[in-house]
Amino acid sequence: ASVAEPPRIRRLDESVVNRIAAGEVIQRPVSAVKELVENSLDAGSTSISVVVKDGGLKLIQVSDNGHGIRSEDLPILCERHTTSKLSAYEDLHSIKSMGFRGEALASMTYVGHVTVTTITEGQLHGYRVSYRDGVMEHEPKPCAAVRGTQIMVENLFYNMIARRKNLQNANDDYAKIVDLISRFAIHNSSVIFSCRKHGVNRADVHTVTTLSKLDAIKTIYGISVARDLMEITVSDDNPSRSIFEMNGFISNANYTAKKTTMVLFINDRLVECTALKRAIEVVYSSTLPKASRPFIYMSIKLPCDHVDVNIHPTKREVSLLNQESLIETIQNAVESKLMNCNTTRTFQTQT
Ligand code: ADP
Ligand code: MG
Repeated sequence: ASVAEPPRIRRLDESVVNRIAAGEVIQRPVSAVKELVENSLDAGSTSISVVVKDGGLKLIQVSDNGHGIRSEDLPILCERHTTSKLSAYEDLHSIKSMGFRGEALASMTYVGHVTVTTITEGQLHGYRVSYRDGVMEHEPKPCAAVRGTQIMVENLFYNMIARRKNLQNANDDYAKIVDLISRFAIHNSSVIFSCRKHGVNRADVHTVTTLSKLDAIKTIYGISVARDLMEITVSDDNPSRSIFEMNGFISNANYTAKKTTMVLFINDRLVECTALKRAIEVVYSSTLPKASRPFIYMSIKLPCDHVDVNIHPTKREVSLLNQESLIETIQNAVESKLMNCNTTRTFQTQT
């Protein structure tokens, strides 16, 4: 019997490649919101507002007052790998902006309908243009606009039946979006954030330009959380180890919660670090008598070349140089802070 002939190998159409990649970058509505808000922050905005309809599947609209987009850049704005933030590979080592891949907007046009309205400083009018599969649907139309950029994503995943169905059945993403904006608002406490459902006047997150991070936490998570927080700072400038700085707020012995809230920024990027979270939870459960999960807000600053930002298309995780010793240093700092508050508490109850 003869062996079956091998199938021919063919090159995929660019549009197929782009749609596959898009599904990876934009996994759900909240991932689109994260990309859009990061773009607004990268554009130097001091006010960012988010409007969501149907958990983000019908509409996501992010408006900012940042530097806007030049009209001559609009034709390539939503092509894959077009960016104003990176030009050479080496720049990745020193990148300060949150974006760098030039993929987010492009991805959104492959899985939804994107409309951009933007105006740059000194212009008399703005432009509005819609995109589909990376390209403009028509020439940009002049329109009235206030300062900055507004990006609207409609009918997300209209062409991905299974994903849309899954998301429709699941609890919608609105709560995740509110949580995301809350996190951004704590760290960027000089930016005014708002987040609301379409057609509803009351915002679910609304900050004013606050003076301190603690005030921001109070506005967002409530006074009952802010009341039970302690400030924590660590700086480790031993030249033989990695140079880093950490500051933030952690809950004290009076705080109670069933779930850990960990708001972590590394070099101003909102990221997750499971190892660090676990390490801190261990300290809490072994130091405090009550079995409460902590509230943690931490901002860690490391030299840019100690952080690898390019390990995941969603940039959700980063990888750190000397991660273990860094975690240990933070663990020790949290522990001594907790021991202190524990003794103060005992002391208070005794007197
Ligand atoms: P990246 O952020 O990685 O550069 P994006 O696809 O997210 O890629 O955005 C592409 C480009 O569009 C950005 O580099 C930026 O120049 C521009 N841009 C996107 N959103 C905004 C915004 N809200 N304000 C100003 N410029 C923006
Ligand atoms: Mg971006």
